[in-house]
Amino acid sequence: MADNENTPPPASAPPGKPCSICGKPAVARYKPFCSARCADIDLGRWLKGNYVIPGEAVEETETGLPDRERDEDG
Ligand SMILES: [Zn+2]
Repeated sequence: MADNENTPPPASAPPGKPCSICGKPAVARYKPFCSARCADIDLGRWLKGNYVIPGEAVEETETGLPDRERDEDG
């Protein structure tokens, strides 16, 4: 195993740490994230207290009634 810790970072690398949400270079405005969206995602994790995947929505029945309208189809 070769441990090249002396290797300097690439010149193209932006200063600061990358966004912990998507990995993009963070901006000063939304530090330490790259955008307000990523900051919101992180905030949601804290509020919910669990790891959630953005985009996944849980469908809940508002009526609460069992969905068996077509029972005579089988
Ligand atoms: Zn991001």
